[in-house]
Formats: sequence, structure tokens, C-alpha cells
Amino acid sequence: MTLILPDTSRAVARDLRRLFGADLVKDDVPTKTAYAVDASIYRVEPQAVVLVESEHHIAATVTYAVQRGIPLTPRAAGTNLTGSAIGPGIILDVSRLNRILELNADERWVRVQPGMVLAELNKQLARHELLFGPDPSSGDMCKLGGMVANNSAGPHTIRYGAVKDNVQAMRVCLASGEWLSARAYGLDDPQFAGLLSTHASLRGVLSLVQDQAAVITSKRPTVSKNSCGYNLFGLADGLTRGQFDLPKLFVGSEGTLGVVSEATLRLVDKPKATMAALIHFLRLEDVGEAVPQLLELKPSALEVMDANTLNLIGRSKHGIPPDAAATLLAELDSDNGHRDLQDQAARMAAICRQYRLASDPVLAFDQDQRDQLWKARKALYPTLYRFDERKKPINFVDDVVVSADRIGGLIRYLEDFFHAQRVSVAIFGHIGNGNAHIVPLLDVNDRQDFEKMVQGYHEIHQTVLDRFGGSICGEHGDGRVRVEYVRKMFGPELYGMFEQVKRLFDPSGVLNPGIKISDRPFTDHIDYTRLSKSCATCGKCNSVCPVYDVFQSEDMSSRGWFEIVTAKDYSYLNSKRVVEACLNCKSCRTICPAGVDVSELILRKRAEYPNRIAGWIFTLHAKSAVFEPILKLLAKSQSIWDRPPIRRIIEWLTWPLLRSLSETAKLPFDMVLPRLAPRHLRERHPGLVTKEGLRRSPVAYFHGCAANYFDDGVGDAVIAVLHKHGVTPDLPPQRCSGTPIETYGHRRLAKEGARFNLKSLAGYDTVVTGCASCTLMLKDYPMLFAGEPEQMAAEALAKRVQHISEFVAQSAAHPPTSVGQGGRKRVTYHSSCHLRAAGVTREPRQVLATLPGVEFTDMQDADRCAGGAGTYLVKDYDTSQKIFDRKRRAIEQSRADVVATSCPACMIQLKNGLRGRVDVKHVAQVLQEAYEAADGKDAHPR
Ligand SMILES: Cc1cc2nc3c(=O)[nH]c(=O)nc-3n(C[C@H](O)[C@H](O)[C@H](O)COP(=O)(O)OP(=O)(O)OC[C@H]3O[C@@H](n4cnc5c(N)ncnc54)[C@H](O)[C@@H]3O)c2cc1C
Ligand code: SF4
Ligand code: SF4
Repeated sequence: MTLILPDTSRAVARDLRRLFGADLVKDDVPTKTAYAVDASIYRVEPQAVVLVESEHHIAATVTYAVQRGIPLTPRAAGTNLTGSAIGPGIILDVSRLNRILELNADERWVRVQPGMVLAELNKQLARHELLFGPDPSSGDMCKLGGMVANNSAGPHTIRYGAVKDNVQAMRVCLASGEWLSARAYGLDDPQFAGLLSTHASLRGVLSLVQDQAAVITSKRPTVSKNSCGYNLFGLADGLTRGQFDLPKLFVGSEGTLGVVSEATLRLVDKPKATMAALIHFLRLEDVGEAVPQLLELKPSALEVMDANTLNLIGRSKHGIPPDAAATLLAELDSDNGHRDLQDQAARMAAICRQYRLASDPVLAFDQDQRDQLWKARKALYPTLYRFDERKKPINFVDDVVVSADRIGGLIRYLEDFFHAQRVSVAIFGHIGNGNAHIVPLLDVNDRQDFEKMVQGYHEIHQTVLDRFGGSICGEHGDGRVRVEYVRKMFGPELYGMFEQVKRLFDPSGVLNPGIKISDRPFTDHIDYTRLSKSCATCGKCNSVCPVYDVFQSEDMSSRGWFEIVTAKDYSYLNSKRVVEACLNCKSCRTICPAGVDVSELILRKRAEYPNRIAGWIFTLHAKSAVFEPILKLLAKSQSIWDRPPIRRIIEWLTWPLLRSLSETAKLPFDMVLPRLAPRHLRERHPGLVTKEGLRRSPVAYFHGCAANYFDDGVGDAVIAVLHKHGVTPDLPPQRCSGTPIETYGHRRLAKEGARFNLKSLAGYDTVVTGCASCTLMLKDYPMLFAGEPEQMAAEALAKRVQHISEFVAQSAAHPPTSVGQGGRKRVTYHSSCHLRAAGVTREPRQVLATLPGVEFTDMQDADRCAGGAGTYLVKDYDTSQKIFDRKRRAIEQSRADVVATSCPACMIQLKNGLRGRVDVKHVAQVLQEAYEAADGKDAHPR
């Protein structure tokens, strides 16, 4: 059957819209661009995307696709490395189906929807001391649907197994549109007899496996994990136990046999204690010898990074000795607590010391230390994108498996192979399972490199099969990249059975065609343009992008926006809706292992079409002699106009103006506005105000706009805290740091203000800030002036900027503190995105936790955006509130009396969202109270 006729492309979306409505079906240019990629080396643009929200949507989409012969590709987070979540027809995105449907903690199972992110699931399970074991390194972003369809595994597979070992049941929509409850049925179960009578496909597969059990078993890969081909081995095993174990067939089938709407997963108890060790070997051969001995300790993870990988990620940055030939990362779990682990750790160290080590093993018992050790390992692949402008890590032989005792030999072979090719390569992976991830750095646009890739693809895969008796795929799936080799791996007889299975379940060949079963060469659809860009398309940024969190749609996500704004056919006008949706929260930049700053790319695109209304407002704002009297007038009359009936009128009156700011902008009558100050901060502290060029103190306080104009006590608190630390700051002349101005596309105006600030702040040793956005912007001035005459001055200033929490944490003074009259309070911390982006995360927590009146509790999602983002609250109030929902839940769960933060802009959002249920304070205010209490102003001596 010929699939998809190009001239029907618009009709596909039109038909689907008729079925589901406009909100769930997209086919505009930005959407198709964003969905054309996953984390693989390929690009295939779809015709339409359906954001399914129910089983009905799934079944209706499948039925439509089958009736029309249009390829249908299910998709979850799109982090697969094989090209299996992209396709030329309909993308069926399951991301919005992201709930836990049922949890049985006693029996240790959970029923989940396919759009649930693994990390989110485990966060919720942690409350019950439970865990879903399989843990791909992409766990922060990948979703259960993709994990199940790929039979994913990860570092902890040696203890918990792969997904196929942990799925009890699934609900699958078949190509017929019917739903199948896929579980292990007893062969004599009457329900199974019923199923067989209604599903010809099941009858066909049953008789195939029964007839061919001997052939299937003889072809079973003899390695500890395999995700290549259909798992007929699992079905054959089941028959020997008298069962038809259906999940074994669907797990790992990569969306080619049906669409999964839920899965019932087996859970395990969370270990009581865990220890991680980093062991640096001087000789690769020793690693091969040590592994079998270490496996006797039953580690929960055993990972390796070869010498090249260590060079590529930067040895000094990660404290790796220069002469280490390979590094092992081992983890031990204990159900009996830390003592047990100390013994195990000693045994592990003793084993390793038999070999020549580059340094003593580094042992980490505490969670933060362990997280640090794992962080570099988990982000390894995208981190390699930083290494070279042209040569990028290419996944085409990325997932081979041999038996664990042969992994040393395999690594030696691979190093020799790539050495002969003169290709840099990173070899790392799950050594305890014999699973090596091999990522050569190549410029696929260069003919020679391209040929090396093709040669490596065939030679390495064939060698793994012939010499090492291994598998070409341990966990990543076949997708497009290994599909060409599946027949070679299993031989024509078994491959023929795979084809039969595919025909039985998907006679029209609509379900994810080109994946798993196909003779297309792996070089088809390579995205040569993308592979010369800086983004690894790993999707890690999506896991922190607040807009993606709300919309669960790739065109409304950080990774999608990178694709959209760097596309050849990009135009602001056809992409405005997405380019204007970014909050400029910078969470993507903070987390990106490849060093990409999507928010900066978006700001540049906005600068091509600066917002006119915003431009007028900022021009007026820069004229303080006109702007400030208007603000004061508004402040003095706030008690009159800031009442619901008048606010309703204001909402109505401001609507046309705000619409020119953004189509989604509004100022709802019930939104809690900050109180405007009738006397601005500079007027309240006239003795500190200095004129241009007149410096009295080595320390300047850059208060920014909010602390000057709002009556929120933040500016006064910062000044009071500085006084307590023996500093009388100057308040030099200053203009808006530039964050909001840049956000609306006015780079020129932002630079004007920045030049003013550079001059005004030039002579100070330290510039203290209280606002997270000002902190980041001042530290980012070098980027704003990159290549311009001001760059040097900007770099000098950036080094001298300190947020007040940093200043206090580093201060030599230790003013007395005490418990205030209200007694001890439970305080949590909301970590403002811009302060995180400025690298300040530890200090505010540290400062709060040391105060006697504070019982500090770190809340879940403390590091996620609250949705305020300066004026975003007004620019898109509804989305901003949806983003805040997660923060509200986290604050409520923390049972805090006070939520402290480091940014006046976040305070507005928190106060509006919490409506007085929890106190909102700046860190400086919490500090000020503790100091004043000690002074007896409000004291309860300790
Ligand atoms: C940095 C990085 C590290 C990684 N580390 C690992 C690792 O350690 N171990 C590992 O196994 N993998 C790893 N991967 C690969 C990938 O993240 C995993 O395979 C992951 O489980 C894929 O999940 P996903 O939600 O992104 O699925 P997607 O990429 O969206 O889809 C994967 C497959 O599942 C199918 N699918 C999705 N949802 C459904 C559904 N509801 N019904 C039927 N089919 C469906 C898709 O069609 C596709 O074939 C890594 C990837 C990256 C980028
Ligand atoms: S921007 Fe960074 S985090 Fe996001 S997909 Fe690209 S490489 Fe990954
Ligand atoms: S700045 Fe924030 S909203 Fe914008 S893409 Fe990055 S994470 Fe998403």
C-alpha cells in the first residue's frame, strides 16, 4: 500500500481537527519543524500532530490513519537516539496523558499513563519509599510510553533489569482500533481463549511461536540485555511456563504493533542507603579484570568511561587524574543502612587496590555528592557537543552489548579501530552488563567522515556479532539507525518471523513504518543541517521549560524553539506565536549540557521585531523626571483605584493597550498587584544616594526598579543587612538593568541603559544586588556587548557583582541573630530562575538554614520557574498561572509558613498565587528580622 499522498497533507489536519477540535491538532510550520526531530541523527517532517488526551483520541487517530493509509508515529518525549519518534505522516503525541492512574503500594505496582516522565513518577513513588527500577540516563525527560516501547534500561539494570522485566500489563490500541489488555495469560485461561477468538493477530503469533520455538530459542542473543528485533524469545519462554506473556511482545516494539495508553509497572523498595565510588584505573586491561570481581559484590550500577571520553569531557573539570586510562563509577545499595555499606565499600576499595590506580577511589555516601558523580555521566552524550565546532557526536553504533567479561577486549578493539580511522570517540556505558555506548565525533557533511561512519557502522556491528557473539542493541532500540542490521543480526529465518508478526498486527503497514522492520539504509533521512548545529536535541531543556510543562507540545518547548528559530525557512511572522511564548526564564541555558542558550536565540529573533508599545513604555521609563512622578501619583491613589470595581474598569480600559503588547496580555481585576511606594527607596535613603562619578563607599547597591518603586521592604532590608555586615553602601545613579527591555526585543534600548550602568558602577569593588534578574543581567553584560568596545568593562563589572545572599555567605562579619517574636518558622526557598542562571543556588539556602528562627525545608521543584518572569505575568496571565500551579502544590506540600526567594519579581507572582496563605519574603527580609530580633527590636533571646 502506498502511504501518504503529499497533496493531501492539509486535508489530514483538517480531517483530524473535525474529529478532535483545533486545540489538539496542529500542522503549522513551527509545529512541523519542532516535531521533525528527536534525539537521533535524523529528520523527517510530519504532516500533522495530534496531542491526544484520551483513549478515544488514540483509537480514533489510529482508525483514521489506517483507513487513509497515513503513517502514524506514536511519540512521548522524543529522546530516543534512533529516529523512531519521527515520521512522515501523523505524530500521535501522548505527553498529555501523564497521570498515575492507580498505585498499590502494598503489592508494589503502579498503573501509569504513557506521557508520565520517569523522574516525576519516581518523585511521587519516593513518598511511599518505592521506585521504578529501570533508569535510562535520560530519566529527567523521557516518558513511560517511550521507555516501554523501547524496552529502555540504564545504569541500574544489573540490579533491577530492563523495562521488559518490570511490566505486568499494558493497554494497547491495535491497528484495528480495538483495545487489547496485554498481560501474561495462562494458556488454559478462558479469558485467553476469548481473546484468541476475537484477535486473529494473537492466534497467528501464538501458532508462529509454538511452531518455531526451537528456531527462536536457538537464535536468542547470549548477552544480558537485548532490544533488537521483536522479543519472540520472551514469548517462547512464556510458553514453557504455560503462559502467553503478551507484554514481552509489546515492550520494545517501538510503536510498530500498537499504541500504548497505560502500563502496569512492577515496583521495588527504595534502597535504605546508597554509596557511589569513582575509581580511576591506570590500565584498561585492569578494568576488564576487575569487573567480574566487582560484580560479586552485587553492585546496583557499574559504569565505565574510557580515556578518550575523560579527555573529551575535561579531566580537570571533573577532578579526573591526567593518567587515568579508564574510570569506573560503581554504586552499591543496601537495605540495612550505612554500616553495611561501609563494609561493602571497604571490600570494593580492596578489590580495586589490587590494580594500578591513578588515585584512591572517591567514595560518596551522601546524596548531593552522589548526584555530582552521576551528573557528568548522565549528561555525557550532549556534553560532547561542546567539544568541536564541526565534529559532533554521532549515534550510529551507539549501543552494542557483549558479555561483561569481554567488555575490556571490546573497548580495546574499538579504540584501535577509531585510532586507525583517526577519529575521536567516546566509549562509555553499562560495563556491568557489557553494554557499550560508542559515540564517534564526526563531521557528516565531510565526505571522508561520512565514509568513515558508513565503514564503522558495518565493521563494528559485524565484529560485535562475529567475534564477540554480542548484540547490536542493548537498550536504545532499532529505530531507523539499526533497522538495516536487524536481518543480519538474526538471519533471514527469524527476521522473516518478525516480518510475519508485523503483518499480523499491522497489515496496512501504517504503524511507525521504516522502524524495526525495513531494508532502508541507515543513511536515509540523516539531518545533515542539524548535525552541524550546536544542539544535541537531547530534550533535557524541555524537562525544565515551564512552557513545555504546561503545553506538553514540542512546538511550545525549548528544544522545539531551537529547531524553529534556527530553521532555514524561519520567519518571525509565521513563528510569532511560539517565539513570543518564551518567558526568558533561562532555565534551559542553566541546564543545557551542550552549552546552548535557547533563550538568547529567541531574544535575538525578537530583536528583529521589537514590540512598539513596550518601546514607548521603556523610553518613558528611562526619563525618570517624567516617569517617577506618574508612579508616585499612582502610589498615592492606590487605595482608591486598587479596589475590585475600579480594577474591573481598569482591566477593561487597559485591554486595547495590553493587546498591542501581546495577544494574550491582560491585567485581571483580581490579580494582586505590588504596592507602589509613595516615597521611592532612593528618597527614603537620601544619605546613601550618590551623584555620577562620586564614590563614597567601596560597595554599591544596585537596587533595580522593583526595589526602588515598590513598597515591599526588599530594598530597605538589603540596606539594613549590609549595615549589619559593616557596610554603608552607595546608591549610585542607575537605570533598568535591561532584562525586561530585552525581553520585548529592544536590544538597543537595553544597551543604552547598560552603558549608563557600566559607567556608574565602574569604580566600585563590589556591586550588591537584591533582584535575581538584575544580578544575571549585570553578570551577562559581557554577552550583551560581545565584540564591542564595552566588552572589557562589562567583564570587569560582571566579576564584581554579588547577590546579597552571596555577600552574606562570604562576609567575614557574623552579626548576632535571634528568634523573632513570632517564634521559629518553617521556611522554604523558591530558587529564582535568573539567580540559578547566575550560578547562585547554594548561598540563599545556606544563609536561611543557619538562622535560629528558621526551620529550613527544601521543597520539591524549588528549582523550577514560578511563572512570574518579570512582566510575563501580565503578558500571558493564564499560562503564567498554569505554570504556578506546580509551585503552589510544592509550597503547600512543604508545609512552610514562609516562602523565601531572592527576587522581587518572583515575590509578585508568589503573593498573587498564594493570596496570603503562606508568607512571602525576600531572603534579605528574613535575615533582617533575625538581626533585629537579636537587637531586641523584636526579640526572643535564644
Ligand atoms: C542523553 C540521553 C541519554 C540516554 N540514556 C539512555 C539510557 O541510559 N538507556 C536507555 O535505554 N535509553 C537512553 N536514552 C534513549 C531514550 O531516552 C530512551 O530510549 C527513552 O526511554 C525514550 O523515551 P521517550 O519518552 O523519549 O520516547 P520517544 O523517543 O518519544 O519514543 C521512543 C519510541 O517509543 C514509541 N512510543 C512512544 N510512546 C508510545 C506509546 N504510547 N505507544 C507505543 N509506542 C510509543 C515511539 O514511537 C518510539 O518508537 C538516552 C537518550 C538521551 C538523549
Ligand atoms: S538546547 Fe541543550 S538541553 Fe536543549 S535539546 Fe539542545 S542540547 Fe539538549
Ligand atoms: S527561557 Fe525558559 S521559557 Fe524560554 S525556552 Fe528557556 S526554559 Fe523555556
